[in-house]
Amino acid sequence: MNQFRFSRRPDIGDKIKVSFEFFPPKNDEMEARLWETVTRLEPLQPKFVSVTYGAGGSTRERTARTVKRILSETTLTPAAHMTCVDASRDEVDAVIQEFAGMGVTRFVALRGDPAEGVGAAYRPHPGGYANGAELVGALKGAGDFDISVSAYPEKHPESPDFATDIDMLKRKVDNGATRAITQFFFDNDLYERYVERARRAGIYIPIVPGILPVHNFTQVANFSARCGALVPAWLAERFDGLQKDPQTHALVASAVAAEQVLDLVERGVGDFHFYTMNRADLVVAVCHMIGIRSHEAETAGSAAA
Ligand code: FAD
Repeated sequence: MNQFRFSRRPDIGDKIKVSFEFFPPKNDEMEARLWETVTRLEPLQPKFVSVTYGAGGSTRERTARTVKRILSETTLTPAAHMTCVDASRDEVDAVIQEFAGMGVTRFVALRGDPAEGVGAAYRPHPGGYANGAELVGALKGAGDFDISVSAYPEKHPESPDFATDIDMLKRKVDNGATRAITQFFFDNDLYERYVERARRAGIYIPIVPGILPVHNFTQVANFSARCGALVPAWLAERFDGLQKDPQTHALVASAVAAEQVLDLVERGVGDFHFYTMNRADLVVAVCHMIGIRSHEAETAGSAAA
């Protein structure tokens, strides 16, 4: 990896598309931070921005409120996440109708994790949709929606093997999924191998890498262990000793995320989904590196030149 290999070709930014993921805020302070972030990211003109849905529908109202505000106060296209957890088919169908009634045309369809948390055994609601594939089928039957689903480059922790994992992705595609967004990962070889596996299984939808800028390495390492994402030794080494030095941590995080994304661009990837954690700085920096600039930034740049 070096600056020459990664030097931005002038046309790259035109070809790359990004999307941003937010979570619904819990209180006024978090709400203010989210809207600051949305305001900073809006000029980058993402393809869509998605809003997550808490376990067991715990954020149903907050997700709906956030999606509604995005629709009414921004030029952004929201995608509503939905899960099947602890809900009957009728309840899930009502949520689909609620979002559709607001004008939502994009969804991210998920099975979800048990309300007790990641790692607890998943038990489908007796009268509900059993998994992501069934939810995709319900959405497809309810309207002409753009439906994203999850994909796991290191396989989902509940999947006994890659074949089972890819089989679930295939079922979601067969039921109408338009794109898969991956769990975050830090080893691009694993992503590339997963995409090859999917293609061999006859899955041809875009498999968009989910990029997690590392705002807090300790938290990311803990979360990764729970969701089965590998934290390579070189990554731990990069953040070693920076827990009490947030400024250097942020600079390193931005370099790490940019390196990952630029390497994926070199491998031919054109779409990226950023797990923003409702923060703009690192995402703006990485987007800048791949040539995605706000209109204002381009104007300022050309004036200086
Ligand atoms: P599915 O696609 O239905 O299944 C995932 C995998 O589990 C499959 O590959 C399959 O092999 C295996 N599996 C499923 N059922 C079984 C079974 N019975 N036996 C054996 N293996 C099985 N969670 C939220 O709560 N809210 C969100 O908004 C949210 N957004 C997400 C967005 C993205 C892009 C991603 C990648 C994940 C998101 N999650 C979210 C997390 C997700 O809900 C969990 O990873 C959950 O454990 C699986 O949901 P899924 O839709 O991926 O499941």
